[in-house]
Amino acid sequence: MMDEMQGKGMACPPATGDITLNLKNRGRAIEAAMYGPENPALPNTAFWRDMAKEWEVSPEDAKMSRCGNCGAFNRSEEMLQCIAKGLGPEGDPWATIEAGDLGYCEIFDFKCASSRTCRAWIAEDEEVEDEDEGEEYKPSSNAAAEGEEYED
Ligand code: SF4
Repeated sequence: MMDEMQGKGMACPPATGDITLNLKNRGRAIEAAMYGPENPALPNTAFWRDMAKEWEVSPEDAKMSRCGNCGAFNRSEEMLQCIAKGLGPEGDPWATIEAGDLGYCEIFDFKCASSRTCRAWIAEDEEVEDEDEGEEYKPSSNAAAEGEEYED
């Protein structure tokens, strides 16, 4: 069900308003592309070592490629409105968005956090290919290139 934003002309992605779908897509990002780390505040040495290997860079360089500067990360005003609306009236959705620095992943179609990353990370000027519309994402094909198991 697409939710047309009144007056904005933008249809909210279903996952912004459907927690089950969001979780499913998030799980797919974890499984297919190692979305993480679980707690970005920790050193996560093994995680960053694996990412560095994937991208053939140093772990320090790998840490520079996060959702926050990924070409698939959407933090437009309209998208944030969709996310806030989907979080519902309880609590302060904008505080939740701010705390998690949330945006929307256009490749895996879920709400992701700017401090995380995944193997499908792309530069900001690269074209986004939605996982549902294009070929199935294969980790090795991109060398340069919520109530949740763990939070967005
Ligand atoms: S494709 Fe980009 S925005 Fe989506 S989870 Fe991976 S790094 Fe984050």
